[in-house]
Amino acid sequence: MKYDIIFVGGGQAGVFGAYEAIKMNPKAKILVLDKGKMLKQRVCPKEKTGVCAKCPICAIIYGVSGAGAYSDSKFNMDYRVGGDLHTIINKNIVNDVINYVVGIYKEFGFDEKPSGLEYNTIMDSIKKRCIENNVQLVDTPTMHLGTDGSRELYSRLLEYLIKAGVEFVVERDLEKFIIEKKVIKGVIVKNKTKLEEYYSDNIVVAVGRSGAMQLKGICVDQKIKFENGAIDLGVRAEIPDIVMKDINENFYEAKMIYHTSYYNDKMRTFCSNPSGFIAIEKHSDDVILANGHAYKDKKSKNTNLALLCTKTFTHPFNQPFEYATSIAKMTSMLTGGKILVQSYGDLKCGKRSTDVTLSRLNIIPTTDDYVAGDIALACPKRILDNIIEFIEVHDKITPGFASSDLLLYFPEIKFRSTRININEKMETNIKGLYAAGDGSGYGSGLNIAAVMGILAVRSINEKQ
Ligand SMILES: Cc1cc2nc3c(=O)[nH]c(=O)nc-3n(C[C@H](O)[C@H](O)[C@H](O)COP(=O)(O)OP(=O)(O)OC[C@H]3O[C@@H](n4cnc5c(N)ncnc54)[C@H](O)[C@@H]3O)c2cc1C
Repeated sequence: MKYDIIFVGGGQAGVFGAYEAIKMNPKAKILVLDKGKMLKQRVCPKEKTGVCAKCPICAIIYGVSGAGAYSDSKFNMDYRVGGDLHTIINKNIVNDVINYVVGIYKEFGFDEKPSGLEYNTIMDSIKKRCIENNVQLVDTPTMHLGTDGSRELYSRLLEYLIKAGVEFVVERDLEKFIIEKKVIKGVIVKNKTKLEEYYSDNIVVAVGRSGAMQLKGICVDQKIKFENGAIDLGVRAEIPDIVMKDINENFYEAKMIYHTSYYNDKMRTFCSNPSGFIAIEKHSDDVILANGHAYKDKKSKNTNLALLCTKTFTHPFNQPFEYATSIAKMTSMLTGGKILVQSYGDLKCGKRSTDVTLSRLNIIPTTDDYVAGDIALACPKRILDNIIEFIEVHDKITPGFASSDLLLYFPEIKFRSTRININEKMETNIKGLYAAGDGSGYGSGLNIAAVMGILAVRSINEKQ
């Protein structure tokens, strides 16, 4: 059977794209292929045991609804956060579609007042301290669903899509595209050991960060044009809520950008989770990354947030992906396949952390799934210097941040270093092949992933 549109990857971009496709044309034959399972079958054993079971396909990042299903689902209502799509299309279009997505969230039962809309005196003084310390505060309104709330929303959305006739075929791994004379004809996926072919003149590839490395290989083999982009590498920091109280209660999340004084590298805070939990992302047996999330109802006493360094490389180096992966592998070698944690106090003294040194702190980690050690053995000096400088600057805005009670989980990496060449229609150099979301290299958040999925579908509909 030939489909009108196939989505490869049923994450945020794929699901919102499928919604738009069926809304624009209720008779359209829409297929969503995904490497993971359907949402209901996506169960992370760690939720019960507290320890990563090293599943061959990690339920946190793979499966229908994508990485968003286990994310805190802070939905940023502004083009400046969540990706760089505004570098190829007008920022007003991006914001219009973000508002359209907010409408879909409302349609499926999520309707809460966003935080960060109005400033009070505490917010004013936080912003003033940012200005005094050369930190840019990107203050965008944010909706917060929580990990539990986001699963509810996806459940309702998927139920609607299935009733509307959208087909989901899961546990299918993208093998390659069927391309004839630079025109897309279909896609080949692996079902365990068997290869299957699905046909369409319109394919939206939206495999997220989890599929980005594999997609890069396919782009090389099938001459789909791409460029090497930046990598985002750093730590997931965890600190008692009381230190972050003013930011948490007033902004929920304060997105800060800072350029370091020595290297002039860009550092940013990302994905802050008040009263949240550390999450583990398993990309492969030896690529295990730190992340974080927060529930709407279940609360911890700690806030976690990423401190990331955005690094671009210059000629002749062209393997940022492999570089970041090697760092993750080296960490995994030191820890025997876990994330590494060190207290900021130990890092500054040049000693490894141990379970004993961690037990002397006020903070209790929200995961057991780590090995205490020395980040300096795995993290390049330049990145580590940047992280330390950023922590010290953050301390001037949030007193107490640079304390020994700051735990640093390493590595946190955002794999979006392959930037596929797409035009304003989200179309690649292969006619009919569109790229959306984190895997395209233009997205890094739920808002932009949904916008790209929707814009790809609108472009497809325009030509029909
Ligand atoms: C723990 C965590 C917390 C986060 N918190 C936030 C947050 O609060 N706010 C925010 O804006 N963003 C957050 N993010 C990021 C956000 O989830 C992503 O930006 C968003 O999901 C990207 O959407 P996407 O559709 O591009 O990719 P994804 O949602 O990752 O979906 C990609 C899909 O492709 C599938 N896939 C992968 N490889 C293949 C393959 N080879 N073949 C077939 N299918 C494949 C996957 O199974 C998945 O379903 C978080 C991410 C994580 C992991």
